[in-house]
This record gives sequence, C-alpha cells and structure tokens, in this order.
Amino acid sequence: MSVKAKAAAAPEVGAIPENFKAKAHIDAATYEKMYAASISDPEAFWGEHGKRLDWIKPYSKVKDTSFEPGNISIKWFEDGTLNVAANCVDRHLKKRGNQTAIIFEPDDIHEPAQYITYRQLHNQVSKLANVLEQLGIRKGDRVVIYLPMIPEAAYAMLACARIGAVHSIVFAGFSPDALAARVNGCDAKLVITADYAPRGGRKTPLKSNTDAALLHCIHDPKVLMVRRTREQTTWVEGRDFDYGEMMLEASDVQHPIEINAEDPLFILYTSGSTGHPKGVVHSTGGYLVYAAMTHQYTFDYHDGDVFWCTADVGWVTGHSYIVYGPLANGATTVMFEGVPTYPDPGRFWEVCEKHKVNQFYTAPTAIRALMGQGDEWVEKHDLSSLKLLGSVGEPINPEAWNWYNEKVGKGKCPIVDTWWQTETGGHLITPLPGAISTKPGSATKPFFGVQPVILDPQSGLEIDSVEAEGVLCLKDSWPGQMRGVWDDHGRFEQAYFSDYKGYYFSGDGCRRDADGYYWITGRVDDVINVSGHRMGTAEVESALVAHAKVAEAAVVGYPHPVKGQGIYCYVTLMNDVEPTQELYQELRQWVRHEIGPIASPDLIQWAPGLPKTRSGKIMRRILRKIAENDYGSLGDTSTLADPSVVEDLIENRMNKG
Ligand code: ATP
Ligand code: MG
Repeated sequence: MSVKAKAAAAPEVGAIPENFKAKAHIDAATYEKMYAASISDPEAFWGEHGKRLDWIKPYSKVKDTSFEPGNISIKWFEDGTLNVAANCVDRHLKKRGNQTAIIFEPDDIHEPAQYITYRQLHNQVSKLANVLEQLGIRKGDRVVIYLPMIPEAAYAMLACARIGAVHSIVFAGFSPDALAARVNGCDAKLVITADYAPRGGRKTPLKSNTDAALLHCIHDPKVLMVRRTREQTTWVEGRDFDYGEMMLEASDVQHPIEINAEDPLFILYTSGSTGHPKGVVHSTGGYLVYAAMTHQYTFDYHDGDVFWCTADVGWVTGHSYIVYGPLANGATTVMFEGVPTYPDPGRFWEVCEKHKVNQFYTAPTAIRALMGQGDEWVEKHDLSSLKLLGSVGEPINPEAWNWYNEKVGKGKCPIVDTWWQTETGGHLITPLPGAISTKPGSATKPFFGVQPVILDPQSGLEIDSVEAEGVLCLKDSWPGQMRGVWDDHGRFEQAYFSDYKGYYFSGDGCRRDADGYYWITGRVDDVINVSGHRMGTAEVESALVAHAKVAEAAVVGYPHPVKGQGIYCYVTLMNDVEPTQELYQELRQWVRHEIGPIASPDLIQWAPGLPKTRSGKIMRRILRKIAENDYGSLGDTSTLADPSVVEDLIENRMNKG
C-alpha cells in the first residue's frame, strides 16, 4: 500500500491529523518538491535557506564538501561572516523584545519559574560577554561550561558565541575525572560552573568537583562560579571569580564580533555508547542554519508556541533544540532543571500543563520509565496544549510509541521520531509532521538535503532496491555536519569515512521498507548473526518490551557453539513483578511468537537495572562483555550513569557460570 493511501485511511495510527495538515509549514507536496530541489541543486537550495540568518558579510560560496578518502573537507557558506548570538538574540529585539525567550522551570516545585524576555536575555548575554573579555577570553579560546540546567548555561553559550570563544559543555552529572579530561582535551582557559547543581532533590557539588578536576589539569584555567544555592564553597583566591559580583559591575553594551561561517562554535563529546567519546567540532554558519531550520520544520514550530525539549544542554539535543535552534527562530523555549520523576512521576506532565507547552521532545528512556509508573500520573494533568510530540536518542519501541501517542498525545499529536547524532548537528531522518504520516518505530524520511543510503556491510555497495537492510551511510554533506574531531583530524577520517569509502558512516544499522521509510535497527556493532540470519537487537528488545510484565530490555549476542551467536537478553521487569522460571519460559515463547523461532532468546538474565550512559542510552558494549564472560576489559566507563548496575549484572552472570 502506498504512503498516501495509508494516510488517507484515517483515523489510522500515524495518519497526519486533519487539523494539523491545514496549518503545517510543510505539506506532503511541498516536502516532495523541496526535497527534490535540495538534492538536485544543493547550492541553490541552501543558498536560499541560508538567508534565514542575518549575515554580516553575505556568502558567495555555498557548498564545498568532499567525502573522498585523504581529502575529507566540509565547508558551507565559507566566505560569509555572522554572529550566532546576534542571530539568536539581538535581531529579535525589535519585534520580540518583550516576548519570553526562556522559561526556566527549577528543580524545586516551590521555587517560582522564571520568564526571561529577549530583552533580558540580550542584557545578560552582553554583560557576560564583557565579563569573559575581562577574564582574558578572546576569539578562538576554549571555555568549558559545567553548569546545571539554569538560564546561566544559555547565557554562557551565547556569550561565548558573541565573542567567538569556543564552548565545550560538560554535563553536570559527570565526575571530576571526566571534567578534567575534557578541560585538558580542549586546553580550556576558563571553566564556568556553579556552587551546586540541584537535581531531583539532591545537590551535586559542582564547585568542589571542579576543584578536584583542576588538580589534574595541565594548564591553569580560571573559574567563574554561579551561586545557585546559598551554601558555602571553597574558594581559590586569584583563580576563582564570582559570577554574580562580576555581572553586577559589567556593562551591558557589547558589540557582537564578526565570525567566519566556518569558525568553530563549540566542541561536544559524544555520549560514549559505543566507545571512547569523540570531541565533535561544530561550525558557526552551517550549524546554525541547520539547527534553526530543523527546529522550525520538524516540530512545525509557529510564532508564539511554547517549545520544550527535556534534554540537558550537556548533550547535542540541548545545544540544537533548547538553545540555538529555538532562539535563532525567536521561539519560547523551556529549560527544566529537574528530572522526570521528582517530586513524582507526574512532573513532566505538570510542567506541560503549567507552561501550556505546545511541542514536547524527550527520549524513549524517559517514556519507558514513565510508562512503567502507571497511567494515572499522565491522566491527572491537562495536556490539551500539546500539538506535537518528539522522540530522540534511541530507537523507540512501538510499545512506548503507542503509549506516548495514546496517553500523552491523546491520539491527536503527530510523533516525530528524530534520528540524528552529535555529529550531525540536527535531525537527518525524521517525519515532517504535516507532510509524512508516521509508523510506530520508524524515523520515516530524510530531511531536506539529506541523502541516506543503505550499504551492504560486506561489499560496501549501495543497495538500490526500495526494500533494503544494511548499514546507514550518508552520500553527501549537509550544513549541520561536524567539521572534525577536536585536535585529531586522523580520528575524524578514521571513524566516519574509512569503513565505507566516499560515504559518511553513521555506525547505525537500518532497514528501508516498501514505502521507503527508514527504520533504525540499532548500532552496527549490535547486529547479531544467529545461524546465518542477521538480526538487529532492537527488534528483539521491542518484542520483549511489548510483554506486559517487561519494563525494559537489552539484547546482545554471545558466542554460541552451534548458532555462531546466541541471543542474550537482559530484562528489567515491571515494578511489582517477580522473576520466575515460568515467566522465563513465557518470555522465550513470547519472542518466538512475536518474531519467529530464529529470534528465540537463548539466555535471559533478570536485570534490576541496565547500564546506561548519562544521557540514558543503554551501553550494550558492556552487556556484550558480560554476556561473553569477559570482565577484564569493559572499555571506557567514564560516561556510565551508575557503575553499581554493572557490578550487579556481573555477579549474577557469574553465578550462572
Ligand atoms: P558514541 O558515538 O560515543 O558511541 P552515541 O552514539 O550514543 O555515543 P550520540 O551522538 O548522543 O552518541 O547518539 C547518536 C546515536 O543515537 C545514533 O547514532 C543512534 O544510534 C541513536 N539514535 C538517536 N536518535 C535515534 C532515533 N530516533 N532512533 C534510533 N536511534 C537513534
Ligand atoms: Mg555515536
């Protein structure tokens, strides 16, 4: 059946809601037309769409990119100049000076929310840019930001951008060691931090973590500290500076400096799901064009909407869709300091109701966690303001998709399942909600200018047929693409351009269905080969999670004497469910029934918790080691959220022998 025929058969799940279609920026015909134009003449397409920004010196060259081995080079708008902060703040003052730019929702429900207008944002960013200059920061210098999810984090990003300093944000949940590695990695001149980071009712001592980290830093960065609480901290005279005091004295007049489109805007490390994190470098011009355009079209953002992305600014999602994309579009963006389950599992929905959120964007890990807490938490709140829901970070299993659709979206909000990476700067494969009907678990179709291809993993050749399965690569560049790995051009080429020559290799496996829809099947490393059948672990995980007693599941391969690889499943049960031998057999039968006998689990280990990155992604590489009985080399565990989970899993594996 064709996509159009499916969409017309409303009220089918995934059909574009009628009321949405009429108002959307991009309808189906426009998508087809614009997509074709973006591929046939990228110069003309992006030359036009680059104009959504204000340029100081307009570009004359649009695209100069090469994926050829030995000559990897990515340049967009290369002779243009602009300032990112001027685009995100100053240019909105005339029309939206009094509009709220940032809604800040604190961790503590008793603390009032803050509504920061574009004028106030301008004032704060200008002052902070002056403070940075007073501290000796100049264009090209690196500044590490290690802050809670407070407005000062956005001010710091934009103040850096204003003077051309390169920021590198370190998630506030990271340890002193991880912080030290990142400060050293980019040779930062300054660390902007806070005394404490309140989160989920607890306080992380950011300042003392910073003190500990700086003991291991080669150079001596200065420290600028925001006071988030009234608590005492240590103080190193001459090195530490008080944010509040300096801001009080600072002038609010600051002229944004002229920056080349190709100058770096920020460095950000990947999540570390598959190995040692990579220090991804993003550009000024291309990145902002892409972040802004995807924000507007993927979320179908309209003037006056309230947009909430629940990510942390420590991840790329927070960079592109809390700060840069929304603010470049003159949007109202929500910054939430807390966690989904504090003070109770209704917090997300309470915040949606309170701020009348229109677009809500979160991760499958959060959706699954909240789904496990029962529907009453959602049902308690008025979610009628919601127009669209988004998902990012991992494949969303249909079970979670359906819950999100029915319980949160009440069946009337399109769900945009956005596939992208730290490296890509913005969405690459995602439904445009007014144009593309959705299917639970599919990221659907490419964004403008994006040319996904599926390669045969062995031959490296493109599979031309519509229906295909293999590794997901990109054939050509898009403006938001990373420009390099910080200080390591070799790794850039090696990690992304060496496995499949002439392509950008995403590291993800993918299937394309008969309608041309893309389905991410997980990391290529996670594909298992059972008796000659290649299988994405995501499929088995989805089947397990679809069982009413299963809350979460992670599946890996392990050496099997007969099948080559066996299927090893780690299963977290719902809160009140006891693991029994009967349930063990029931789950095996269930997967056989859902997928087929080939997918039948060989081993199931009950897992009270799964090892996850700090951004909530399952670290299957660790689970693979445990399944293989190889505990000696678990690899880089610095981005692991809770190391005790791993110890527990190893212990139980060992008991099994
Ligand atoms: P590392 O690169 O260090 O191993 P990481 O890949 O987890 O870590 P990110 O850049 O945060 O770091 O995540 C990008 C990856 O997340 C993608 O390559 C993909 O595997 C997964 N992902 C993101 N969004 C989706 C989605 N909508 N559907 C399926 N997978 C997704
Ligand atoms: Mg990755």
